[in-house]
Amino acid sequence: MVERRATILIVDDERTNIQILDNALGNEYNILAAMSGEQAIAVAVESLPCLILLDIILPDISGYDVCKALKSNKLTKHIPVIFVTAQSLPEDELKGLELGAIDYFRKPFLVPLIKVRVRNQIELVQKTAALEQLAWIDGLTGISNRRSFDKRYFEACKYAIRNKRRICLIILDIDFFKQYNDHYGHAQGDVVLQQVARAIDQVASRPLDLVARYGGEEFVILLTDSSEKEGALLAEKVREKIEALAIPHIKSKIHRVLTISIGVTSSSNDGCSFDTKALLETADACLYEAKAMGRNTVVSTDFKEKTPRSF
Ligand code: GH3
Ligand code: MG
Ligand code: MG
Repeated sequence: MVERRATILIVDDERTNIQILDNALGNEYNILAAMSGEQAIAVAVESLPCLILLDIILPDISGYDVCKALKSNKLTKHIPVIFVTAQSLPEDELKGLELGAIDYFRKPFLVPLIKVRVRNQIELVQKTAALEQLAWIDGLTGISNRRSFDKRYFEACKYAIRNKRRICLIILDIDFFKQYNDHYGHAQGDVVLQQVARAIDQVASRPLDLVARYGGEEFVILLTDSSEKEGALLAEKVREKIEALAIPHIKSKIHRVLTISIGVTSSSNDGCSFDTKALLETADACLYEAKAMGRNTVVSTDFKEKTPRSF
């Protein structure tokens, strides 16, 4: 895997200071520079660097004001700021740290010391980002987890209601999975969960499609800007794909291979608000109906595309 170089924004009104820091850090990091406070804020918002080295005395607004502005903008508030300044009084340092900066370097600085302290901060930022990422991913299958789904579902509903757009919700559940585990073992059950997750992810592959593991052997697909008919067609593709994997399941009561049942629903397209919880319940009710109809089936609310399979 190619590791992306972290970006550092250096803010200083003295070109020579920028040069010194660039010489010290440019081999390891991408360096951006700004020579005024306003420019620093604009570059930070646009480029979202990993770290900002910020002078205090600037030609327009002070570094303190820049820090305050960055910390009150939700796009930039997580970016660590280190003051690099000739202001050497303890109260200056205290003020900087109280504004949310994580460190304070005094000029003139020792280049090796700056390099080590910057590297420590960048490592911390990268580790935190990796942990944050892990918190949204299902450990077994590598797709989004329930926490991630809940957050993005809520955001998608808010967006859809505000912009009179449609969202489509698909819930998928493996058929007779308890019997599968009992017969083939829990470890092999885990392998199947990975295969099923990958297959669903391959079918629902548009950039905005969200595929998540909703519970044990239940998955969910969230389609934004999609009609229920589109959702039902996609669900049918997933159902076919899982069947075509031909994963042996001799304990299935309906088939010799592993299958899934699917419920599909969508918000109304009349631009009215909708109940986000009710939408989930409706998708679940459709899934329940698919199970009752014999499994390996897609049931959607609008189109009543009830297509029981015969074996
Ligand atoms: P139905 O066709 O009605 O959906 O029946 P089912 O057996 O699939 O459903 P049930 O809810 O009775 O059983 C779900 C099973 O999924 C039981 C549980 O052990 C298994 N399961 C849940 N999470 C995991 C997991 O992480 N790994 C494995 N291997 N099995 C899991
Ligand atoms: Mg099941
Ligand atoms: Mg289940």
